[in-house]
Amino acid sequence: MTQIGNLGFPRIGARRELKRAVEAHWRGGDAATLQATARELRLRHWTLQREAGVDLPPSNDFSLYDQVLDAAFCVDAIPGRYRALADADPLAGYFALARGHQRDGIDLHALEMTKWFDTNYHYIVPELHADQAFALRDDKPVREYLEAQDAGIETRPVLIGPVTLLWLSKTTDGSDRFALLERLLPVYAALLRKLHDAGAGWVQIDEPALVLDLDDTMRAAYRRAYAALADIVRPKLLLATYFGALDDNLELAASLPVDGLHVDLVRGREQLDAVLHALPAGRTLSLGLVDGRNIWRTRLDDALVLARYAVEARGADAVQLAPSCSLLHVPVDLKQEKALDPELRGWLAFATQKLDELRLIADALTDADAAEPSLAEARAAIDARRQSARVHRADVAARLQAIRPVDAQRLSAFGTRRVAQDALRPLPAFPTTTIGSFPQTLEVREARAAHKSGTLSDADYDAFIAAETASCVREQEALGLDVLVHGEFERNDMVEYFGEQLDGFAFTKLGWVQSYGSRCVKPPLIWGDVARPAPMTVRWSTYAQSLTDRPMKGMLTGPVTILQWSFVRDDQPRAATCRQIALALRDEVIDLEAAGIGVIQIDEPALREGLPLRRADWAAYLDWAVESFRISASGVADTTQIHTHMCYSEFNDIIEAVAAMDADVISIETSRSRMELLDAFVRFRYPNGIGPGVYDIHSPRVPDVDEMTRLLERAADRIPPAQLWVNPDCGLKTRGWPETRAALQALVEAARRMRAHT
Ligand code: GLN
Ligand code: ZN
Repeated sequence: MTQIGNLGFPRIGARRELKRAVEAHWRGGDAATLQATARELRLRHWTLQREAGVDLPPSNDFSLYDQVLDAAFCVDAIPGRYRALADADPLAGYFALARGHQRDGIDLHALEMTKWFDTNYHYIVPELHADQAFALRDDKPVREYLEAQDAGIETRPVLIGPVTLLWLSKTTDGSDRFALLERLLPVYAALLRKLHDAGAGWVQIDEPALVLDLDDTMRAAYRRAYAALADIVRPKLLLATYFGALDDNLELAASLPVDGLHVDLVRGREQLDAVLHALPAGRTLSLGLVDGRNIWRTRLDDALVLARYAVEARGADAVQLAPSCSLLHVPVDLKQEKALDPELRGWLAFATQKLDELRLIADALTDADAAEPSLAEARAAIDARRQSARVHRADVAARLQAIRPVDAQRLSAFGTRRVAQDALRPLPAFPTTTIGSFPQTLEVREARAAHKSGTLSDADYDAFIAAETASCVREQEALGLDVLVHGEFERNDMVEYFGEQLDGFAFTKLGWVQSYGSRCVKPPLIWGDVARPAPMTVRWSTYAQSLTDRPMKGMLTGPVTILQWSFVRDDQPRAATCRQIALALRDEVIDLEAAGIGVIQIDEPALREGLPLRRADWAAYLDWAVESFRISASGVADTTQIHTHMCYSEFNDIIEAVAAMDADVISIETSRSRMELLDAFVRFRYPNGIGPGVYDIHSPRVPDVDEMTRLLERAADRIPPAQLWVNPDCGLKTRGWPETRAALQALVEAARRMRAHT
């Protein structure tokens, strides 16, 4: 019998119960209450999975904050400065690593956080050093296995594999992470032994790093790691790979002495044949057939073809059916979405529904006739989506077809544009500006909530936003900023605000996905061809411009960022969806220009994070990503100044693409790196305007004039001063007014000092 496996279930809870419990604990609630909620959620999810037909649901996929932090804690990879706290109070120590700790004279920063492969989930980066020792500090995997066992549920514990764990970590002394492998392996061996003794038959050992470009050090690490774990007393190991095909690492993965291999057949559908050939006889093969990264129904007939093929090759008992990766990246249950358009709802599958799909595939393998009615129903939904006149719009297709290379090109080269722009809008040297948003105070958020719930009328809400905008304009004038912004008070979120006004987007009520820790996001669904029925930002931008003689900068979210932070259609290439968004934004840019807005910023903070996992795929991605940005930006006259903004980005390997975006001005986040991030621009001799951030907006700290002047001097040492702009690292929406005022005052003063002595 072909079994059904699962690699991980969303732990946050269908109603974000875990978020609430964790945050209540942070506010001072007792640990026992938090642990009770956690236990309740684990049990609920195991039960749900068993009922859905999963043979061995995962355990230890649960986490109070992050599974990588759990793994670091488990092997005692805790930096010295947290140790006393973690020894005295493990839970407090755990949360200190995750989010810092400031109490009773202790002041600890949080560990760094970064993206989990190419997902929008962020993990805590373990900190290691050359003398790192490891020990089995915390047997959470065993505890949670036993907890399920007590409830009568046999589970397959999930561990992050040793090589992927080291790859995810960083050393603080520049030493080689993989040199620590030999010290780490005995801890894994001890843990596996304990799991075995507790009764676990299988362990899922996650090694997603196997889908990356590996160097010889990592390949060797894989061989050493799994050789060392081969002949110990342990459960059977299912080596789980996901987020892509194994490709050139297939031989390596198949050669490792484990008992089974999980492969991603959603992103790596074409690898099945090669996997079947490479995997030695007797190994279990887990087929990742259902997309763990997106919310669409599976094309079950296609999945069934793969499943049958694999079963034929290896026998039903040696094959398991599974999602492509953990279901952490999708919302819990579609059944909660009562308000969603019923037709659209019929096309979707969230975590719970994805397990039902696996059950259906398994049923069809054993009894095709019995499964046929359900399959037919699923087929009808897929066909409806494929043929829907709502999804495919002739007008959008025609526009996409008609894109010509000149549409992605400004009329003149930057040098000519710059002259025209300076003539029309003379600005001082080191012009000052901000990135867009101003403080989203409690008042602003309350007004938006009241408007949404209907207690604040449209007219009153509009009047409120107008007043906020007007006072923001006055503040900026008083501060002496050169290029102003309207403040973005009308926006809930930089993607949602646009998605709500574009055709082809939908929003869920409870479609939460964990972003990091207790933070969840509700990504929009892009389900159909994207078009802009009406201008989206012209009203507030022109209103703000009407209040001042200084240039008012229009503010848009770029096509790549909108794409990147949404659930995207899977029935056409991402590039096509991105171009559709770009065309909609192009219309907006043209409308803004026509309405008298001569400076327009198109934010692309997510451009870099969209980079594919494999280098070989970078060029194709950057090609369409840059082209999309240029399509949105190129419909205007030379005199119109296009800005872009990219935060949290490393520019070294994408500087050519960034230059190809050809924005007149780019603002970036540089204050924390003390201008180091500028180096890529310096080396490339980046020719256009550039605003290196001089104010770290992630911190309530207010930098003074001297500090910002020093940063600007460093920038001016590297970049010709005529190219430089002066601005914060990012938008100010998370800051309060007093600190914002103080910091911007210092920023304007720093720019004046620069003008005076250069
Ligand atoms: N314009 C946006 C803001 O200022 C940019 C946000 C971002 O880059 N993440 O809030
Ligand atoms: Zn930013």
